Amino acid sequence: MLHLSSLSDIRRHTEQLRRQGQRIGFVPTMGALHEGHLSLIRAAKSQNDIIVCSVFVNPTQFNNQEDYRLYPRLPEKDAQMLAQEGCDVLFSPLAEEMYQHKSKLSFDFGELEQVMEGAHRPGHFNGVAMVVSKLFHLVKPHQAFFGQKDLQQFAIIQQLVLDLSFDLELVCFPIIREEDGLAMSSRNRRLTTEQREAAPQLHQALQLLRTQLQTLSVSEAKREAEAFLGRFPQIKLEYLEVVHAQTLQPLHEIAADVPVAICLAAFLGEVRLIDNLLL
Ligand code: AMP
Repeated sequence: MLHLSSLSDIRRHTEQLRRQGQRIGFVPTMGALHEGHLSLIRAAKSQNDIIVCSVFVNPTQFNNQEDYRLYPRLPEKDAQMLAQEGCDVLFSPLAEEMYQHKSKLSFDFGELEQVMEGAHRPGHFNGVAMVVSKLFHLVKPHQAFFGQKDLQQFAIIQQLVLDLSFDLELVCFPIIREEDGLAMSSRNRRLTTEQREAAPQLHQALQLLRTQLQTLSVSEAKREAEAFLGRFPQIKLEYLEVVHAQTLQPLHEIAADVPVAICLAAFLGEVRLIDNLLL
């Protein structure tokens, strides 16, 4: 596996690959890799000649400096896992390399970012859109792979690709979970034993909400799921939303022909986790 960290090197390398007619599959990550990331690498590999994975803890998408500081970083283990999966190129730049000057451009995704993650993490999607745009220019992928785990991020990146005419295909892959239902996340490493024990209740709450929506109104079903989570003192719910799966706008009732997503964010101590289900 080739390991690159400078912008000029990755640019030159992917230009060469393109000239040789190689199809590039790209998986952007923030590292501390787990099975969720590896599922994206495997999917990318099955449809492309060359796999590029980036590992970059992007400072501009963190609205909380402590969260950035404490974000798990395991560069050696990541490189080893990627090589084992048959990744061809690992791109892991330093923040000073990625941001050589202060960015002035800002993104506004309108109502798409005024809910859920966008509403609770000011500036988050601006940082995501900036880094993903930079990475797309540097890596020049034919396909880029993302997880449904970050459902709103995927919707934002779809809009970014449409608005800026990036010539690539986006692929969204299902959430990989631990055996007890907890969605895999690099942040799970930061949970204490008690928090880790409580964490699968997030998925339980989403499943409960899905069941309740079959018979109750949206507001009643949400109240039941919120009350359920209220029984676990380790969990502080930030939001629980029933939304249109594409526009991500809150739904007040469920109609047969409307795609629905139920999404939540919660704190376990200082660790903020998100999860969702598509109905
Ligand atoms: P991250 O390193 O957390 O920024 O995630 C990198 C990519 O992996 C994003 O597209 C995530 O949506 C995806 N991802 C993270 N966790 C999971 C998971 N449990 N299952 C599937 N994909 C995931």
